[in-house]
Amino acid sequence: MTKPRFRRIMLKVGGEAMIGNRTYGIDHEAALKVANKIKKIYVKHVQVAIVIGGGNIFRGVAGSKKGIDRTAADYMGMLATVMNGLALQDALEKIEVPARLQSALQMPAVAENYIRRRAIRHMEKGRVVILAAGTGVPYVTTDTGAALHALELHCDVLMKATKVAGVYNQDPLKNPQAKRFKTLNFKDAIEMTGITVMDTAALAMSQENSMPIMVLKLFEQNQLERAIDGEEIGTYVSNNVKTEFAE
Ligand code: UDP
Repeated sequence: MTKPRFRRIMLKVGGEAMIGNRTYGIDHEAALKVANKIKKIYVKHVQVAIVIGGGNIFRGVAGSKKGIDRTAADYMGMLATVMNGLALQDALEKIEVPARLQSALQMPAVAENYIRRRAIRHMEKGRVVILAAGTGVPYVTTDTGAALHALELHCDVLMKATKVAGVYNQDPLKNPQAKRFKTLNFKDAIEMTGITVMDTAALAMSQENSMPIMVLKLFEQNQLERAIDGEEIGTYVSNNVKTEFAE
């Protein structure tokens, strides 16, 4: 087995990964698929923390456009991430990966409270930690939660699992000519228009604290596993690289 490149990772999984062939909500098969991808790196003894999104159920911005107060809508979004977290915890345990759900919003009957030291302890003991409710405050998204928790938990990298295989200069789902960046400097990631890596808040926090971000496709060609083995997969965003396209 190749020695993992990273000791501890933060994996941001968007809610859409849980949707499967449905148009809304949680598909158990999809949750199992996500869990199986995680198991492949868990068995390499990589410590894994996961921040799960809620976009398959509810996003605050969409709710507020329909007239719900933004703060209320964001709390609804955070609750959606707790549902996804429960589904993912269940899926991981079904395939014998010990997992603990922690929530930034207190609901002790459902999930442990997010306690940083306890999250670290879980990972040290070989449990995957799923962090729900993002930061626990409104007006941000789970991307920001992932960046914040990655820093707090001293992760080596923040891996963002998306629908496409990295960051492109145009939307690759709409334009087949779109070119993938192999590396992307944080400054360019923030300043270039039309390029979305993560929320600006998440990017700024990662840039300031030199937390590298890898953007990859969770469901393609063992990308997660290969990234852990040290292959240059997807797009690597850092202060220490020049912006370059992949071959
Ligand atoms: N949210 C929030 N604060 C946080 C994290 C999430 O208010 O720290 C809310 C926000 O409304 C967001 C929703 O929860 O739209 C679901 O999260 P997100 O949109 O990040 O999910 P994803 O796009 O990753 O599936």
